[in-house]
Amino acid sequence: MSSPDALARELQYVWHPFTQMQVWADDDPLFIDSGQGVWVRDTQGREYYDANSSLWLTIHGHRRKEIDDAIRRQLDKIAHSTMLGLTHEPAGELAERLISIAPEGLSRVFYSDSGSTAVEIAIKMTYQFWRHRGEERKTFVALADGYHGDTIGSVSVGGISLFHGIFADLLFECHFAPSPASCASLCQALSGVEKILTAHPGNVAAVIVEPLIQAAGGMLVAPKGFLAGVRDLCDRYDVLMIVDEVATGFGRTGRMFACEHEDVAPDLMTVAKGLTGGYLPLAATLTSEAVFQAFLGEYSQGKTFFHGHSYTGNPLACAAALASLQIFEDDNVIADLAPKIQFISERLEHIATLDRVGSVRQVGIMVGIEVVRSRRPRVDYVWEERAGVRVCRRARTLGLLTRPLGNVIVFMPMLVSSIRELGEMLDMIEMAITEELADG
Ligand code: PLP
Repeated sequence: MSSPDALARELQYVWHPFTQMQVWADDDPLFIDSGQGVWVRDTQGREYYDANSSLWLTIHGHRRKEIDDAIRRQLDKIAHSTMLGLTHEPAGELAERLISIAPEGLSRVFYSDSGSTAVEIAIKMTYQFWRHRGEERKTFVALADGYHGDTIGSVSVGGISLFHGIFADLLFECHFAPSPASCASLCQALSGVEKILTAHPGNVAAVIVEPLIQAAGGMLVAPKGFLAGVRDLCDRYDVLMIVDEVATGFGRTGRMFACEHEDVAPDLMTVAKGLTGGYLPLAATLTSEAVFQAFLGEYSQGKTFFHGHSYTGNPLACAAALASLQIFEDDNVIADLAPKIQFISERLEHIATLDRVGSVRQVGIMVGIEVVRSRRPRVDYVWEERAGVRVCRRARTLGLLTRPLGNVIVFMPMLVSSIRELGEMLDMIEMAITEELADG
């Protein structure tokens, strides 16, 4: 419920992302007014657990004093100044800090403002990289069920037909290996990638993957060793490797970056979402020195990377990101995650036994709970039944907010959540599933 004026304005003027606007009003739009820690409050004063971290972004909690203060301090100096031709200290400071925690070999930071733009940039960079090497490599390798954002380049390497199918005619050529989660073995998953590399010698600019887990595809977990195996293939076939850490970066998998689990050093890595602790739009494409060096030359050589956005490297966002990284250090955030992850795993073992739960998937504190009409024999809900949406609506009435991916209920709590809070959230999700789907 909202004030009549606010609702009328909303319905008259606003068009929401990933939303069928014809039925949006039926869903009783929720107006969020404020937040604190792992909670958000609506304009009617009702409080909810923010169980998907405001779409996978918030890490240390809402209204985190250290980040609020850092933004205010920067605001007292300047809110925005361009990085085209000028620069500012927070950009360099943050770049140095990012490189100090990034996988080995990444040495340069190119800023933008969303996960999609970070990926778009990685794609354009890899294409141009090969041109500077005197090669025309026009295609990419990506994974079925992968998601890398909504700009045309990132959609071209995206493998979710519900989102991407309609734009097929606009996209550039990309070859899709099967989702590693759908393969019977690690070997089969890697051979899916290798087959494509063999079939297109000298034509693949880069392989792009989400590390360990394909998040938007439904929290699909890759077999252990897949990421490292793709790195080996990229080396053997001499193609660049782009690792998209937009969803997995900044602690979500239990390490700062998912790459660390398999000791992988990509040629390019994209980060966004949690970079600012979930405060402001900032993204970065990190590259190896070899990629960066390929773009150097006299202006007349035409090697400049002609790409940039109005808000590239916004100083307020850089200040927020620096404060967020400082919290990681001061509060030992990564070390504190292990018992929380273990707790979630134990609770999921029980949830996996519920009648309407087909599978549970977890990497770190990224969780997907798939609901099904029947476990044995297995009968899925058809998407028009909106089972996932209904469960999330029910959860909302219990005091918890999240958003499904089809029939997969996403649980993406903030890193700062306590074990008690994690338990309460999982109880609410369990109750929502049981109550909402009791009759089928
Ligand atoms: N890459 C991955 C792996 C993502 O999960 C997402 C968003 O969910 C994106 C890219 C796109 O990020 P943004 O929504 O900030 O454009």
